[in-house]
Amino acid sequence: MKQWLDEQLSQRRAQHLYRSRRELQSAQAPEVTIDGQNFLAFCSNDYLGLANHPQVVEAFVAAAKHYGVGSGASHLVCGHSREHHALEQELAAFTGRDRTLLFSTGFMANLGVINALVGAGDSIFEDKLNHASLLDGGLSSGAKFQRFLHNDVAQLERKLAAAEAQKKLVVVDGVFSMDGDLAPVHELARICDQHRAWLMVDDAHGFGVLGKNGGGVAEHFNLNQDQLPVLMGTLGKSFGTFGAFIAGSDALIETLIQLARTYIYTTALPPAVAAASRVSLQLLQTEHWRREKLRALIQRFRAGVEQLGLPLMASSTPIQPIMVGDAETALAWSSQLAAQGILVTAIRPPTVAAGSARLRVTLSAAHTEAQVDRLLDALSQLVRKTDCAE
Ligand code: PMP
Repeated sequence: MKQWLDEQLSQRRAQHLYRSRRELQSAQAPEVTIDGQNFLAFCSNDYLGLANHPQVVEAFVAAAKHYGVGSGASHLVCGHSREHHALEQELAAFTGRDRTLLFSTGFMANLGVINALVGAGDSIFEDKLNHASLLDGGLSSGAKFQRFLHNDVAQLERKLAAAEAQKKLVVVDGVFSMDGDLAPVHELARICDQHRAWLMVDDAHGFGVLGKNGGGVAEHFNLNQDQLPVLMGTLGKSFGTFGAFIAGSDALIETLIQLARTYIYTTALPPAVAAASRVSLQLLQTEHWRREKLRALIQRFRAGVEQLGLPLMASSTPIQPIMVGDAETALAWSSQLAAQGILVTAIRPPTVAAGSARLRVTLSAAHTEAQVDRLLDALSQLVRKTDCAE
């Protein structure tokens, strides 16, 4: 076994695909401490700056004092607390759906829902750039698994028309996690309706950011429960906490409670996480300035990068990848930025396609204009260095 493991690891190193972790010694914020050194971070998904908000932290502490830390059991045994229940109801009001159901992570929500809805004899259609959890959900479901080219509605429509399956489920990311662009969810809803297919959107990166009230792609495209019947959101990104939820009809939620294995057979989120998420949800809906500030920072960043002549994706979200190409250069750029005290993650295959390695810059309402300018300055030094080397 050891020989095989060692070979795997050295192969990854040789291909510049080796992954490693950093140990954070501070709270999640634009400025973080790692190994005693301060960095300006552009890699967290805490888009609204709520992960370290005093009211969110206070709610967490108060609930931990009341409920303890662990939930003690799965929801269906005796782990479902009043905080979980209240959060589910508030998320239902927020999303405009009949009900919502909490899952312990987004990965588990996706696996659970897809496997509960489709199986052998059915067909599932997924965008090529869908998140790994959606792809794994589709592959493990037993349904006929088909991928369509990124955001290619016409190709999907041809596949839907040709499919003879009883049930057809179309699944996309609302905001694509590595590119930052949006799925054309309104068009997908239209063709799903025409082809009697069900539509599921994973809006992990849209909630909190898109829509006037942070209602994500559903609010952005104004899609109701009939048009978009399976809506998934995570709490670990804009909410700044942890966990995930599915929003939909009463019948969908009841079905998931009966069938979704990743709901039934796992420990419920700590009640304190639910309590903290309730406060986040309030802040996320009422503090519009966070979305406005984020939007302004995104524009500032894009204008600066365009001036430097670096290639960006067509993204209006806080996910702003700078396309680099090969994994080695992406890694080198990420370490050169780190040497200047700036953290930006290099995203390499297999997370993205070969030849499309990138620096994945993520912006947050917690950043200041001066911090964005510092990143732009560091990037301009990289560009100058690269130009000189060529
Ligand atoms: N879906 C998408 C699009 C994601 O980006 C992520 C997290 N990176 C997940 C699902 C998984 O969510 P969680 O981290 O809560 O497991």
